[in-house]
Amino acid sequence: MSDVRNVIIIGSGPAGYTAATYAARADLKPLVFEGAVTAGGALMNTTEVENFPGWPEGIMGPDLMDNLRKQAERFGAELVADDIVEAELEGDIKVVKDGSGNVHRAKAVILATGSAYRELGLPNEKELSGHGVSWCATCDGFFFRSQHIAVVGGGDSAIEEATFLTRFAETVTVIHRREELRASKIMQDRAFANDKIKFAWNSEVAEVLGDGKLTGVKLRDTVTGELRDLDVTGLFIAIGHEPRTELLKGQIDLDEEGYVKVSHPTQHTNLTGVFACGDVVDHIYRQAITAAGSGCAAALDAERYLEDLK
Ligand code: FAD
Repeated sequence: MSDVRNVIIIGSGPAGYTAATYAARADLKPLVFEGAVTAGGALMNTTEVENFPGWPEGIMGPDLMDNLRKQAERFGAELVADDIVEAELEGDIKVVKDGSGNVHRAKAVILATGSAYRELGLPNEKELSGHGVSWCATCDGFFFRSQHIAVVGGGDSAIEEATFLTRFAETVTVIHRREELRASKIMQDRAFANDKIKFAWNSEVAEVLGDGKLTGVKLRDTVTGELRDLDVTGLFIAIGHEPRTELLKGQIDLDEEGYVKVSHPTQHTNLTGVFACGDVVDHIYRQAITAAGSGCAAALDAERYLEDLK
């Protein structure tokens, strides 16, 4: 079966490109589907990345991804700017179909499709991403020293982010649609005891304000409909993530939140020859370096799996 590849990698964030570099250097000639419109993954939408090891002065997100891409290409990874729209992963030979209708087969597949951050869906939100609007406190909290900022959401992650952000910010206003939080009791108690955390109850963001840089948000009272401005220079949106697993439904074990289950400390899924890495498996760390690390592990797991088939 000459048209059967060793390994197909689906996804082109830090996880996918790192898996591609390792697989290519192991001479597996990986075929990588980068996605039709979003090649490079989540970091293509950000500005400065200051916490990826090896870049002491920081690096712009798109430049980092361009470097990871070139590194994979240098060792012979074949990159295709298309989506995978169908996948049959259960047999010994995995079959995937791309957005142009071409069918590809491989002995192993690495899933690195990432997860989408839920957006508010407001005009200006995307434009101001990296200019005051953020989806990641660990990544961007440091930029908001002594500033007045806000977090949208009322679940555990929103409250965890708000609490973490008080290390840097002067005040953190939690904007929540209801009059009580969904977060666990212990997280709530911690937040209520923190002087820097304020609450905008029964409030939703009606407008993201600013031209080139966030200057505030317009809040709508969910009970009275009244509008008011909140002056903030940072807005962290923490209303959830959606792991990109549409392709896999019914074929592969997912956890209760929809992330692909792997048998830690490896990246093996429950399907033989199928490995997963990056944010599509990770709802805890969600960092470029952890995605890259698990991409490396997935490629090494795939390499050993292919070796055992010989
Ligand atoms: P992603 O980067 O999400 O990449 C997945 C890729 O797979 C995408 O290109 C997608 O289009 C593609 N794909 C999905 N489905 C398919 C398909 N069916 N076919 C083909 N391709 C597909 N982390 C840090 O460490 N430092 C930071 O400073 C930082 N800043 C951030 C700023 C922003 C605005 C955001 C959103 C995230 C930030 N993060 C940061 C988090 C970091 O970007 C993610 O943890 C990391 O990108 C996850 O990598 P990944 O490879 O798993 O997935």
